[in-house]
Amino acid sequence: MNVLVVEDERNLADAIARILTDASYHAETAYDGKAGLSLALAGGYDAVVLDVMLPGMDGCEVVHEMRRQGVSTPVLMLTARTTTEDKVEGLDAGADDYMTKPFEAPELLARLRALTRRRGDVMLDQVEFADLVLDLTTHDLSCGDASVHLSGKEFEVMRTLMSSSARVVSKQDLLRRVWGDDEASENSVEAYVSFLRKKLAHVGSTVQITTLRMLGYRLEVFGS
Ligand code: CA
Repeated sequence: MNVLVVEDERNLADAIARILTDASYHAETAYDGKAGLSLALAGGYDAVVLDVMLPGMDGCEVVHEMRRQGVSTPVLMLTARTTTEDKVEGLDAGADDYMTKPFEAPELLARLRALTRRRGDVMLDQVEFADLVLDLTTHDLSCGDASVHLSGKEFEVMRTLMSSSARVVSKQDLLRRVWGDDEASENSVEAYVSFLRKKLAHVGSTVQITTLRMLGYRLEVFGS
């Protein structure tokens, strides 16, 4: 499970990330609302832990903008504030659950499990983009009747691109999401993109992975 943590108190953000990592989740952190929003919009997360009090753009604005742009990732809001009014504001903005700081690790994990389970009831077990369907269970990529199996890293790269729709995904984003750090070589990303291009051609998809120099990759539909 891939969780985005948006919290400006770095010690707390890093502590939450450690709790998640210890529970075998993959965690990414953002230390302000704008950075958190742009990661959340890029997609690929199973849940977002979002602090309400953030400099610049607060948590309610972040979740509101996510929902406005059609991103349905479950959001657990964190706050030091306890008034009902604040809680209602967060939930109204589109958050799924609410937790008051300070909290214990087991409570955080239990709430995240509940959120992702609740979502699991209605969540599709596949991601679609144009003529492509990616099965999240079997890791098969299909176009019409043609289908091809994706290896672990190919699957993660493709899932990230497909769940980002037509947005640009940078090599650094792919390295962090798929390899878990940005120290791995960018050549690895290029190699897997090249494998995926062959597989897209193999299934006869109209979707191509376009390279945007200095920016990253994007899925585009050509002809049909
Ligand atoms: Ca804060």
